Amino acid sequence: MTAKSMMPYVQGNSAIRAMFEEGARLAAEFGKENVYDFSLGNPSVPAPPEVNQAIKDIVDQEDTLLIHGYNQSNSGYEDVRSTVADHLNRLHGTSFTSDNIVMTVGAASGLNVAIKTFIDPGEEILAFAPYFVEYGKYAANHGAMLNAVPADTATFQPNLEELERMISPKTRAVIINSPNNPTGVIYSAETLTRLAEILKAKSEQFGAPIYIISDEPYRELAYDGAQVPYVTKFYDNAIVGYSWSKSLSLPGERIGYLVIPSEIEDFENAKTAANIANRVLGYVNAPSLIQRVVARCIDCSTDVAAYDRNRTDLYEGLTSLGYECTKPEGAFYLFVKSPIDDDVEFCDIAKKYNILMVPGKSFACPGYVRLAYCVSHDTIINSLPAFAKLMDEIRSM
Ligand code: PLP
Repeated sequence: MTAKSMMPYVQGNSAIRAMFEEGARLAAEFGKENVYDFSLGNPSVPAPPEVNQAIKDIVDQEDTLLIHGYNQSNSGYEDVRSTVADHLNRLHGTSFTSDNIVMTVGAASGLNVAIKTFIDPGEEILAFAPYFVEYGKYAANHGAMLNAVPADTATFQPNLEELERMISPKTRAVIINSPNNPTGVIYSAETLTRLAEILKAKSEQFGAPIYIISDEPYRELAYDGAQVPYVTKFYDNAIVGYSWSKSLSLPGERIGYLVIPSEIEDFENAKTAANIANRVLGYVNAPSLIQRVVARCIDCSTDVAAYDRNRTDLYEGLTSLGYECTKPEGAFYLFVKSPIDDDVEFCDIAKKYNILMVPGKSFACPGYVRLAYCVSHDTIINSLPAFAKLMDEIRSM
């Protein structure tokens, strides 16, 4: 019999599958170009040409064991980890070495490794609503509880007063995500300073460290020159999870890393535990070939300008039609206020106009909907008349 613990996921999955099937059905009926699918964060910008070139060069030039073999360390190739550490040091003035880097199977596995390494069953992780829905499942994988800090819907910046109130002796970590999915906000240096002050004081009060786990797959997607401060410079017990899924458009390749700074409490044990977690969770090591690819492409970047154009045109298009939302500072999502109370019903009505969006309820923030604008620019422009009709229907209700 299927495990009881999986049944809530099986039931929940029907909503995602229904959305997926609805997209396929609409595309078959109306043509793909007439369906405005804003549901998935799958980048439309292709990976930079250097990526495919690096794959070819590596296959031609490198030893087959390096390309396809198990890694000697479950944390990944030493030279790749050094390349990542040097890159971070150049960008952020940090002083990481290969010892501080664990290569992971994307951000998703990095978060699981981090939770397995630092959190015991029964302990609590806090996340600021709205947050990436998978966090709760990752916490549950390790017997931990994820609780949502209620959203500050005026700014969608982390609700630090609520956080301070909610922290208990059971709280072992706070997950942050900036630039944020789904709101697109970026946490400022002031916010991180205040967050660090709160966590330091609470760690002292309860006599155990409270970690920051910073989930950063959108780090490079920041617009209008916005800076994304590096969290390890604000707080010692901070772990960073990174991924190339969005920054190089490689979500299917499953590649990322964790930074575990030497300043972290009990560093030597933590580093070894993360290495072992990578193995015992079944990842074993991050994919060998793609580790070597990202090391060669460490200075490459995606076409941020393409997402920026989508951001501006969708934001301006929707707000001029009467939709309410804040202009995102980063990532590639727009978090729009549902014009009716029930965001799930609003998404259902939108399907009549071939518009697919995700209800805010899925991000622990009902009353809003998320649009992933990592689609083609044509989809953005062509969707606006459909959004106009949708608004007309809502106003006539
Ligand atoms: N964290 C956030 C906030 C995300 O939006 C995503 C993917 O959309 C992930 C983690 C997972 O990324 P990855 O593909 O690197 O596992």
